[in-house]
Amino acid sequence: MRIDLHTHSSVSDGTDAPATLVRHAAEAGLDVVGLTDHDTAEGWREAAAAAAEAGITLVRGMEISTALGPASVHLLGYLPDPTHPPLAMALAKILDGRNSRVPAICAKLQGLGFDVTEEAVRRRAAEAAATGRPHVADVMVAAGIVADRDEAFARFLNPGRPGYVNRYAVPLSEAIALVTGAGGVSVIAHPWGRGRAGVLPEATLADLRAKGLAGIEVDHQDHAPETRDQLRSIARNLDLVVTGSSDHHGTGKTNHDLGCNTTAPEEYERLLDLAAQAAAASGRPAPRVLA
Ligand SMILES: [Zn+2]
Ligand SMILES: [Zn+2]
Repeated sequence: MRIDLHTHSSVSDGTDAPATLVRHAAEAGLDVVGLTDHDTAEGWREAAAAAAEAGITLVRGMEISTALGPASVHLLGYLPDPTHPPLAMALAKILDGRNSRVPAICAKLQGLGFDVTEEAVRRRAAEAAATGRPHVADVMVAAGIVADRDEAFARFLNPGRPGYVNRYAVPLSEAIALVTGAGGVSVIAHPWGRGRAGVLPEATLADLRAKGLAGIEVDHQDHAPETRDQLRSIARNLDLVVTGSSDHHGTGKTNHDLGCNTTAPEEYERLLDLAAQAAAASGRPAPRVLA
């Protein structure tokens, strides 16, 4: 059984519509695919219909933008009820923050002499639930300012770069509680990717585990082999679920092909068991996993 639990559609910053993404996942030989758009469940319905048709299991998820002190941490929430009011309110606040920083980013880039307008960015984002930095990056690529999204982020859009504007993110432990309260389970995405090892040492992960964290994403393209080994041993120490996934973005990110990393079936089963327990404890009608 091949399981990929972390992908993005055009509802956030991927390039494929949810239905297309799910069909591609089936064509790539996956048995289970998780749709985890940033801070939104808006792609779930379309993806579920496509999954039923393609005969692939869909795990409904989302990747929540959280903050741990000054650091940004991505939290994968699987199978929460997205209509649970505290979670829905937090997601709305994050999406609103993402949308409202676009004009500020454009103003900074224009100040640097680049012709990047809010209108062009909104057009680029099309059907996305929120317009954000990846769409700004796409406009910069189209204008020939940078070669690809990575260069746009590295030179202009990341914290500390001249086009960066801060925005709202939920405190990490609060986000874990929101997911649990909505009957779902939490997994930290790429915990040690891009210099985050110092942000999330074992002691911090132990603390988060006590607050309800279910697992960590170990097999991810941002982790070198030795990083994966270290994280795997921490997961063993702390009894955390180990996941692996592609973090596929369609053509929006290279080297993240569907199924390039996968989750072991027994780890997937543990995750589903924990989600069932959380759903029972919360009393929320958690969305079922489509077989
Ligand atoms: Zn992420
Ligand atoms: Zn992601």
